[in-house]
Amino acid sequence: MREKRAFILDVDGVLVRGHQPLPGALSALEKLKTRGRVVLLTNNSTRSRAATAQRLQELGFNVSPEEVVTSAYVAARYLAEKFGPSRVWVLGEEGLRQELSLAGHTLVPPEEARWIVVGMDRELSYQKLCLALRGLLGGARLLATNRDATFPTPEGLLPGAGACVGALEGMGFPPEQVVGKPNPIAFQIALEVAGIPPEEALMVGDRLETDILGAQRVGMETCLVLSGVSRCEDVQRLGITPTWVVPDLPALASRLG
Ligand SMILES: [Mg+2]
Repeated sequence: MREKRAFILDVDGVLVRGHQPLPGALSALEKLKTRGRVVLLTNNSTRSRAATAQRLQELGFNVSPEEVVTSAYVAARYLAEKFGPSRVWVLGEEGLRQELSLAGHTLVPPEEARWIVVGMDRELSYQKLCLALRGLLGGARLLATNRDATFPTPEGLLPGAGACVGALEGMGFPPEQVVGKPNPIAFQIALEVAGIPPEEALMVGDRLETDILGAQRVGMETCLVLSGVSRCEDVQRLGITPTWVVPDLPALASRLG
């Protein structure tokens, strides 16, 4: 792993847990940055790149918005590159709306939308589902940022974007595309941001079925850290084998010598 020129890092379970940096993560990130490019790749769709970087800066991490890729940014860029500037309506939070606007899309009422974009929405309501349904029945296509079922917090697991995607699916509208991890689209955009080909980048994540599986699909070597969701015994159970398994990010940093 010493020859790698870029490190793509998941955030929750790798750098932070809830609102706390993981032990040793601040200096481990600094060490990685002396070895190559670092890009953070998170499925969290609720914050923009800028807001994600700011939150991490407040915790002491040296991270700029240009080093952050969120599933909201991936969705915005995917739409722009594949379909051009589009009229969109969002079932999600502010960060998703911001990234769509920054990428040149126009936020419109659901009945005028060409795309409904769904991410995690902590204020999901029946009223919002009515609006989404209006758009979808009017012919809008459906794009999802990610479908993480739950995410860990110090208070336990909470419902993730998958709950919101599932609500639309329950009305008969599955998403055409789910761009976040483990979809290769998310990793390809992270690699573009890093400016490094997949064989020269290492994916570091705590979740086998998203971080590790997705990175393998684009030809990256991977490192599972055991400081988050997945455990050693999950490797065999899920049949997803990372290139390396280490206890945490500081252990990875020290292996780089
Ligand atoms: Mg994670």
